[in-house]
Amino acid sequence: MRTIEHWINGSLVPSTSGRTGPVYNPATGEQQAEVGLASVAEVDAAVAAAKAAFPGWRSTSLSRRAEVMFNFRSLVVEHRDEIARLVSIEHGKVPSDAAGELARGIENIEFACGIPAMLKGGYSEGVSGGVDVYSIKQPLGVVAGITPFNFPAMVPMWMFANAIATGNTFVLKPSEKDPSVALLMADLLKQAGLPDGVFNVVNGDKAAVDRILEHPDIEAVSFVGSTPIAQYIYATGTANGKRVQALGGAKNHMVVLPDADIDMAADAAVSAAYGSAGERCMAISVVVAVGGVGDRLIEAISERLPRLKVGPGTDPTAEMGPLITREHRDKVASYLESAPSQGATVVVDGRTADVPSEGFFLGVSLIDNVKPGMASYDDEIFGPVLSVVRVDTYDEAVDLINRHQYGNGTAIFTRDGGAAKAFQFEIKVGMVGINVPIPVPVAYYSFGGWKASIFGDSNIYGPAGVDFYTRTKTVTSRWPDPATSSVDLGFPRTR
Ligand code: NAD
Repeated sequence: MRTIEHWINGSLVPSTSGRTGPVYNPATGEQQAEVGLASVAEVDAAVAAAKAAFPGWRSTSLSRRAEVMFNFRSLVVEHRDEIARLVSIEHGKVPSDAAGELARGIENIEFACGIPAMLKGGYSEGVSGGVDVYSIKQPLGVVAGITPFNFPAMVPMWMFANAIATGNTFVLKPSEKDPSVALLMADLLKQAGLPDGVFNVVNGDKAAVDRILEHPDIEAVSFVGSTPIAQYIYATGTANGKRVQALGGAKNHMVVLPDADIDMAADAAVSAAYGSAGERCMAISVVVAVGGVGDRLIEAISERLPRLKVGPGTDPTAEMGPLITREHRDKVASYLESAPSQGATVVVDGRTADVPSEGFFLGVSLIDNVKPGMASYDDEIFGPVLSVVRVDTYDEAVDLINRHQYGNGTAIFTRDGGAAKAFQFEIKVGMVGINVPIPVPVAYYSFGGWKASIFGDSNIYGPAGVDFYTRTKTVTSRWPDPATSSVDLGFPRTR
């Protein structure tokens, strides 16, 4: 059995904790590796390497730091297929989803290539006689990232690209369910010219996370994962004096108004609900059918579902892969079991679908007549299950979404510009799509939900990421005022 190690100070380091976790191939159900789960001492070794590398890296010129990012970008593009294959083997997503994840991750490296422009401070000359004021953005020191299983390449890139480019050193604790991509990225960063110790990977579980949260040499923690853990990370990290950004779970609603193009909305709902088997924090999991549009919409969605091919990532025609673990697959299926007794109607039942019998597959499901108070509405299911809530009016749709505990993403489908404008104004959600089902912001904006989808006040990546990984220093300086004093330069001013 292959053992997945850590990456500390520029090399692979075997785990010495004696604890391991299984890494499955979700498409076959077989365990394909075991990952070392770091002890406190192993986390400490990674932090020590990052701490030792910090003075040199923060003093490295901006142009050199940008050059390393450019080199890294080229290497990631060159190894695109290899990375996508690794994502697919451990996560289960089909190659097109893995390639999409990587493309969105690469955007963040490209943003970080332009870091010199983002690190410019401000300068005010002559705020009073001889006094100038200016601000500079300095790195924090050692920062850590804790990431979820569902985007093993992209979410770490959301964090470390900006963290490193701004001059910090980094310790990544990837998901123990699909940890190998992080090690490949570490190797590529080294090939790109990143000095040893600037980027480290410790694999692990709660024990490693808890050490990160309390380690005195870690200045800041970025977290992306489920809401209960995000809340815990935020509370514990900030109690230990760290800067923390913690992004949590989601329940994203897509509103379809009666004037919408139904085919366009149905195509969008299918790709946004079932892409990556629904294991996306920006997946659409609820369609809100307004004013009698429900029947037409359900018909249009239902007729598309038999054409959606479920299969392993090794099948180039497969459009949806398995779920991450057997337990998660069974939990997702349990919502189909409980829905009818709670008053909902299962229109398409993924449990009876013709899917591969090996592995953690579940077919796509569609549930109608879902209402608040039902488990399939209130919970983040995180699987290929789309719920439909029927409401009479636009106002009811907005009220429904605004009352939900999560506020990550949402979308509205309409031909009415006024309705779209009203929606973007009054909806209590952080990322809004107008005729766009998955409105993940491009890398030069920042990503973040509202309500229980985020803890802390910092969004992730883009300009917010640069702010998160730097602190501002403001300098007030006095020199003799050239306007009123004749300064003795110590040499002739004119010939
Ligand atoms: P998770 O919360 O179980 O795990 C995330 C990370 O936290 C992992 O590295 C894991 O090892 C660690 N962890 C798990 N339990 C812990 C504990 N008790 N104490 C300390 N650390 C712990 O999330 P997941 O299942 O890997 O990912 C899916 C979740 O992530 C979904 O809820 C999804 O919505 C969310 N997510 C959110 C975003 C976003 O941007 N808001 C993006 C991707 C995923």
